[in-house]
Amino acid sequence: MMFVLHPGVSEKKINEFTQKFEKMGFTPMISSGTERTVVGLVGNTKILDVDDIVENNDIVSYGKRITEPYKLASRAFHPDDTMVMVGEKIVGNKIAGNQTVGNNKGGNKIVGNQIFGEGIFQVISGPCSVESEDQIIKVARAVKLSGATLLRGGAYKPRSSPYSFQGLEMDGLKLLSIAKQETGLPIVSELTNISQLDDFEDVDVIQIGARNMQNYDLLKEIGKIKKPILLKRGLCNTIEEFLMSAEYIMAGGNENVILCERGMRTIETMTRNTLDISAVPLLKKISHLPIIIDPSHAAGIRSLVAPLSKAAIAAGADGLMIETHNDPANALCDGAQSLDLAQFDNLMFEVKRRVEFEGKILGT
Ligand code: PEP
Ligand code: MN
Repeated sequence: MMFVLHPGVSEKKINEFTQKFEKMGFTPMISSGTERTVVGLVGNTKILDVDDIVENNDIVSYGKRITEPYKLASRAFHPDDTMVMVGEKIVGNKIAGNQTVGNNKGGNKIVGNQIFGEGIFQVISGPCSVESEDQIIKVARAVKLSGATLLRGGAYKPRSSPYSFQGLEMDGLKLLSIAKQETGLPIVSELTNISQLDDFEDVDVIQIGARNMQNYDLLKEIGKIKKPILLKRGLCNTIEEFLMSAEYIMAGGNENVILCERGMRTIETMTRNTLDISAVPLLKKISHLPIIIDPSHAAGIRSLVAPLSKAAIAAGADGLMIETHNDPANALCDGAQSLDLAQFDNLMFEVKRRVEFEGKILGT
C-alpha cells in the first residue's frame, strides 16, 4: 500500500504518520521524489482500509494498494526514475564527495563518479576474468580511451565446470584496484559468496551474477550495505522473479540496484542465450530502477555484440556491459564473445551517435 503526500508536508508530520503504522507492525518506506513524497507500507496491508487512511490523515493526497508482489521496485511506489550513484562514498544517506584513490605516478587520482539513470548512458567494459596485471591494465587503458565509463573484471568466477579457470580471486581484485588507480575508472566485479565481502572494499559496483539471482541469503546480505548492486537476470527467470530478487536487496535497505538483462535460455542453440530486448521497455514501465544490457553473454558470439548493443540503445536501456580482451583468442574465459580493443573502439563510435540520437548523454 502506498500514500502520496501533499507537497511541502513537514518531516515531523511525516514521522507522526509513519510511526502510527510502525506501531501496528508495518515497515514504512519513504521515497522523497523531486515533487512529492511517497510512503509505502510493507506488511500485511490487507487489514487496512486505504480510503479510511486517506480520509483521516490530512497530509495524504491519495492512497493506492500496490497489487504487484514487488513493492519497493515498483514504479507505483516510486514514480520517478531511480538514479544510482557510483564512485561516491555514501555515509548514511549523505554523499561524502569523490573517492580519492591511491597515489600513482604523482598526484592522487579521483575516481570518476558515474550515474546510472537520469538520461545518462553508461558503458561498462573489460574482460570476463582478470588474468594478469598486464592484461587488465592494457584493457582498462584502452576501453577508457574508447569511452567506457566503468571497468569490469571477474575475480571470483562461477564456472559450469569445476575444471575451468575459477578466477584469480583476491589477487584479481587487487589487480582491478591497480587498474582503477591507473585509469580512475570505477570497478565492477562479481561476488559469489558473502564471505568475500571484505575483499570488495575497493569495488565500486558489486555484480550478482545470473546463477546467484535467486540466492536469497546472498541477496539479503547485500541488502544491508549501501554499495550499488548490478543484479543480473537469471538464466531462466521471469521478469517478476527478477524484480522480486531486486526487492530482496531493497527490502534490506539498499536501494542502489541496477538491473541487467543478459539473455536467457530458450529453444535456440545457435546463440549462447536469447536476448530479451522487450525486458527493457517493460521494466522501464513497471519499475523505476535503471536497466542495462549485457549483449556479450546474451549472444556468446562476438559479431552479434554490436547489433545487440544498438538494439539496447534503441529500446531505452540505461547502459551496456560489454566483454573486451586485449587477446580474445587466448582469453581464459569467454573469448568467443569478447571484442578486441579495436572492435570495442569501433563500437563506441556507433554507440555515441545512437545515444545522442536517443537524446541521452554518454557518461564521461
Ligand atoms: C559475467 O558477467 O562474466 C558472468 C558470469 O555473467 P552471467 O552471470 O550473466 O553469466
Ligand atoms: Mn563472462
